[in-house]
Amino acid sequence: MLNDTHQRKRSKQRDKVLGVVRSTKSHPTADWVFHEVRKEMPNISLATVYRNLNLLAESGEINEVLCDGQLRFDANKDEHFHFICRSCKGIFDIDETRVASPDFKLPRGYVVQDVRMDFYGICPSCQTKQ
Ligand SMILES: [Zn+2]
Ligand SMILES: [Zn+2]
Repeated sequence: MLNDTHQRKRSKQRDKVLGVVRSTKSHPTADWVFHEVRKEMPNISLATVYRNLNLLAESGEINEVLCDGQLRFDANKDEHFHFICRSCKGIFDIDETRVASPDFKLPRGYVVQDVRMDFYGICPSCQTKQ
């Protein structure tokens, strides 16, 4: 019985963490997710949030994004690229996938399975602020 309750608490925490990551397009850090989850689960620890983020990433429900040496999380499972704004440090999803065209050639003998590419620059809202 005790185990069952424990199990249920665990999956509730995992669902909450997943829900928080899915609630934003901002590619949040673990700290941000922790802050949001704590609003509804005041007793949850940062370690628990980290563990759940790792579990969700391992099971493929969310993606890990390494940006400027900082680990962030992404619930957008569609194929997309990231535009990283050097001014506000925001990460934006770019759905334009034509840049990774199949015509793109690597030296013979290399079989491409996946393309990872990030764009860096200034986002539209930072441009209007300048
Ligand atoms: Zn910006
Ligand atoms: Zn993304």
